[in-house]
Order: sequence, then C-alpha cells, then structure tokens
Amino acid sequence: MEINRHGDHDILIRWNTGEDGIYPARFLRGQCPCATCVDELTGKRIVTPNLLPILVYPTKIEPVGRYAIQVFWSDGHSTGIYTWERLYALLAEIPRSPPVQ
Ligand SMILES: [Zn+2]
Repeated sequence: MEINRHGDHDILIRWNTGEDGIYPARFLRGQCPCATCVDELTGKRIVTPNLLPILVYPTKIEPVGRYAIQVFWSDGHSTGIYTWERLYALLAEIPRSPPVQ
C-alpha cells in the first residue's frame, strides 16, 4: 500500500485491494490506540474526540517495521502505533463528511 497526504492535513492510503481511504486527520488522531488514549485493561477510550484540539494534523509519519506506522501529531502526541490491519479496519469507519470543526 501507499501512504500520502491528502489536502493540508488528511492522510490518503491507497490499499493493494484497489481501495482508497481518505482519513481525516482529527478522526485518525481520535483513533489513537496507545496506552495514554485507551485504557489497556478495559479498552475504554480515555482521550475522547472532545478532548482533542480542533485543529490537529500529522507532522511526521514513520513506518514501524512492515506492520504499522507511527504518527507524530501536531499536538505533540506520538506514542500511537497504527497497524495496517487497524487502518484497514478503520476504512469502514471514516465519517462520511468531515467532523464539524
Ligand atoms: Zn495516543
């Protein structure tokens, strides 16, 4: 698959299946799977979308091995590892229209 920026802030992933996913930056930030954002024991999300800055976007994206990417966010958060598997699953959860900002 191929990962690119889309517009100023969003991320475009072109999957090997032929599907394209445009992931709004704030949506993806809200899906951060790290232990700060999600309670490891209960799986409950601690950092909910309303706690995020209105404008948040990736400043850097780095591959983690062959299975994931690490996103460095403009709010200083960078501990989230997004696996390709998870990103692919999120394809179905992308909001139809960008979240109201
Ligand atoms: Zn996080």
